[in-house]
Amino acid sequence: MAEEISAEAREGSFDSNPRLQNWGVCDKCGCRVKRYIEYLKAGEFEVGKVESILVTYPGYYYLYAEEAETMTTIVITAKCQRCGFEKKMTDPALTVEYLQSFAKRKETLRLCV
Ligand SMILES: [Zn+2]
Repeated sequence: MAEEISAEAREGSFDSNPRLQNWGVCDKCGCRVKRYIEYLKAGEFEVGKVESILVTYPGYYYLYAEEAETMTTIVITAKCQRCGFEKKMTDPALTVEYLQSFAKRKETLRLCV
């Protein structure tokens, strides 16, 4: 799974995603580490455990419907070049499902052009 994502990142599938252009910032000295997208391209991340979340949305027959969706967190281990401080970063945009749907959306757009 991690390899698929970094391959997809190297192909440029996520380059247009603004949330992945965010910089990781060192907690200790405050200097910029690297952009999320660079970690994805370099394969410097771990795929975390799969979590099940309940999503509530307005239903047709009932007022609300609930559906279980899975969410797989991606964890980036960032190491500061300046002070050597290491931290783990996660972000709502850093989930396998989010990245896969983003890559898919791009393919659909390409078909329409
Ligand atoms: Zn630092």
